[in-house]
Amino acid sequence: MKTYKAYCFDLDGTVYRGNESIESAVRFIHRLQEMGIEYYFITNNASKTPVQFQKALAKIGIETAVSRIYSSAITTAKFIAQNYFDAKVHMIGSEGLETALRQEGFKVTDDLEADVVVVGIDQTVDYIKLAKACAAVQNGAKLIGTNEDIKFPSEYGFLPGNGSFVQLIANVANVEPMYIGKPSPVMLDVIQEEYGYQKEEMVMIGDNYDTDILCGVHFGCDTIHVNTGVTSTEIVLTKERKPTYCLEHLDQVEL
Ligand SMILES: [Mg+2]
Repeated sequence: MKTYKAYCFDLDGTVYRGNESIESAVRFIHRLQEMGIEYYFITNNASKTPVQFQKALAKIGIETAVSRIYSSAITTAKFIAQNYFDAKVHMIGSEGLETALRQEGFKVTDDLEADVVVVGIDQTVDYIKLAKACAAVQNGAKLIGTNEDIKFPSEYGFLPGNGSFVQLIANVANVEPMYIGKPSPVMLDVIQEEYGYQKEEMVMIGDNYDTDILCGVHFGCDTIHVNTGVTSTEIVLTKERKPTYCLEHLDQVEL
């Protein structure tokens, strides 16, 4: 395997499992740090701030700058800043998303006239919020979702995920929404745009075929599947578009 300039890691199932570290990944990141090779963490989880992710990583022995952490909320804000200069942003979402947008200099509104409607999970969403977002999109705003997960598991069975609300607005306004979280390639696009890498200098590493590996495939960079989380190697090998490498763990990578 060649040595890449930028190693992009998924977090849960790749670097840690809940509160437990995946030791081979920790050792690999330490090796990158010693060699001065760049690495980034990209996660669809928008429920934590970058500082909270930084603390979670510190607990398992990885000291890292918050600037290396790209959640779907942070990346959504950066994507809008890179692509919609001075945009008026209409938002449905939680505090994390709002903070990320403000940090990029956006004033968040619920105006019916906006350039972009951004939708992240909002547990207080109601008819009026959804109706206003539908109106803003019909007035010409671009519809962007932080992630496309339709549902997520809970003790009560599946509950509606962010994608369910984005889809509702898209259906009413009759538009195709755009999504930032994996498997969309936008998170890797944003890192490439920020640091000026070539695609062949980047690699996406993850445990989940449907999000991590397809994110790399859609973006057009090499991918490494690790057998430490959601998708087993056995399943990955049945897929038509296979990762560049299938590894048991990251101790197998020589740098
Ligand atoms: Mg994962």
